[in-house]
Amino acid sequence: MTGGKTIWENLKPDEEKKLESVSSGYIDFLCRAKTEAEAVDYFMEHLGQNGFQDLEKLEILKPGTKFYYNHIGRALAAGIVGKNGLNNGLYIIASHIDSPRLDLKPKPLYEDSETNTALLKTQYYGGVKKYQWVNIPLALHGRIFTKDGRVVKVNLGEEEDDPVLLIPDLLPHISKMQRDRKLFEGIEAEELNAVAGSRPGDYKEEKFKSHMLKLLKDRYNVEEEDFASAELALVPAGKARAGGFDSSLVIGYGHDDKASAYTSFKAFQDVGEPDDTVLVMFFDKEEIGSQGTSGSQSNFLEYVATMLLHKLTGQSDNYHLLSLLRRSNVISSDVDAAMDPSFKNAHDAHNAAKLGSGIVIAKYSGYGGKFEGSEAPGEFVAFVRKIFEKHNVPYQFGTLGKVDEGGGGTVAQDFARHGMNVVDAGAPVLGMHAPFEIASKADLYSCYKAYKAFMLH
Ligand code: MN
Ligand code: MN
Repeated sequence: MTGGKTIWENLKPDEEKKLESVSSGYIDFLCRAKTEAEAVDYFMEHLGQNGFQDLEKLEILKPGTKFYYNHIGRALAAGIVGKNGLNNGLYIIASHIDSPRLDLKPKPLYEDSETNTALLKTQYYGGVKKYQWVNIPLALHGRIFTKDGRVVKVNLGEEEDDPVLLIPDLLPHISKMQRDRKLFEGIEAEELNAVAGSRPGDYKEEKFKSHMLKLLKDRYNVEEEDFASAELALVPAGKARAGGFDSSLVIGYGHDDKASAYTSFKAFQDVGEPDDTVLVMFFDKEEIGSQGTSGSQSNFLEYVATMLLHKLTGQSDNYHLLSLLRRSNVISSDVDAAMDPSFKNAHDAHNAAKLGSGIVIAKYSGYGGKFEGSEAPGEFVAFVRKIFEKHNVPYQFGTLGKVDEGGGGTVAQDFARHGMNVVDAGAPVLGMHAPFEIASKADLYSCYKAYKAFMLH
């Protein structure tokens, strides 16, 4: 445990190289994977290049078999069968690959002829401070599903020549009425409308909107109604970068929870042939409560575990499934709050995680009196501490903030409900859920080491 010390102070030269390689790979991942579907595409590409096979199609599994299961391109599990098969249960690292953003509404496009504009209506996804999402360049990411079965991928606003969108805040000169609003109502949900066009086409009615529809038709071959079967989101445009004069940080969109997803995937790729069967899992929908077919409340875990049982042991009845889950160990890898230097009074300084001091073990989550959270049994926390120390992983303990200041949850409870050992552990982040967030390269490296240590234990 590092206490007040940071990882930087104990870093050996060869570790510095590894640290930089983990963070440069991570920066590339953040640039390429802003949505859950893009994250799955990224992982699938790497799994395909490294001999992983579709678990549903594999007939025989044996130690060393590398497999994946891709659930509708939005949630993913990848694993390696260990020498002990399922005897000691599974060692799972679970994260989420969705991040807060602004989704387009099913009927997003409208014309405001009084202002000579066409706009896109949005609905915020996840817990955002709405006022943070104005006046920043936004890129449009996602897919449009058409009735004739086409899937049109959209990624507009990331290339240098691409146009971007913006939700303008009211100018300060005439904001007297807005000034009287409370901070959180400074921008209201129905004011999150992105300016999408201002050039009238050659039309009699709704000329701005009609021009937009023509551009959509020309560019993507889609109709206005196709928005209703699309999954399109506005995300902060631009690349993730090194941060700070000393480049010790990574500043980018989506640390929550791409930091855990990437470092666990990277650790998984470097784990070799483990003794026990390991699994990395990436879920969607965590930011809105984990419901839905690609969220952790679905039976995704049970399906993967049942397939493994069936193909490894031939015994896949409910008793064997529950028994497998009960002897499995899970890290719910999700980011935690780093103590904010300008808002220290939101934290209990004695229990707050610090930037640069390593992966944060959060024994429990929840609100106020631990409501709606998940708490790890003490003996499992001790087991994880022991593994981290055996593998020289710098780590710290943390709670999210002052007890009655708020709170949060993770996917941990969806594992706990099966009687599984599960604890939360992830990188500390500053400015979580903002369009751009701060993480420390040292903490990302600590996460990588921690997740690899857990898989090897
Ligand atoms: Mn998270
Ligand atoms: Mn979150």
